[in-house]
Amino acid sequence: MNKVLVSACLLGDPVRYDASHKALGDARLRRWREEGRLVPICPEVAGGLPTPRPPAEIQGGQGRQVLHGQARIADDTGDDPTDAFIRGAKLALSAARRHGVRLALLIDRSPSCGSTQIYDGHFEGTLVAGEGVTTALLRASGIEVFAPHQLDALGERLAQLDADEAF
Ligand code: SF4
Repeated sequence: MNKVLVSACLLGDPVRYDASHKALGDARLRRWREEGRLVPICPEVAGGLPTPRPPAEIQGGQGRQVLHGQARIADDTGDDPTDAFIRGAKLALSAARRHGVRLALLIDRSPSCGSTQIYDGHFEGTLVAGEGVTTALLRASGIEVFAPHQLDALGERLAQLDADEAF
């Protein structure tokens, strides 16, 4: 059965920086959960960061640059949690591989899970096109990452993989 790696906060786990969640009340997600298809993970918590924690943004680059040591992450107190973000991304990839995951549904705009937009690093609420650290690592490893607003496309892709498997 094809599984989907999912941001834990999308399933209602209160693991966001401010200890909130962003539960996605969608029937498809509930069905996939009942079918045992979902592999939840919060990369930041897995990487060792506490909840709540200060908000963090990528400084001067994208998730890919962070993975290559060409950009860092800072939180709004000036601390540098880059190593924890990278550790969390690697643990997310390990979980994906363990479950044979080829698709992921991650919350957008996060410095870890963002897949179409992230904040620009100045803590002023400005968004730029881009992706977070975990998304960059998953994509570099061949996993397709979808944002919540792309749930239709994810559902189609999952059905396609299921159909391929049936042959
Ligand atoms: Fe949600 Fe991802 Fe942020 Fe964890 S790292 S709180 S799963 S968006």
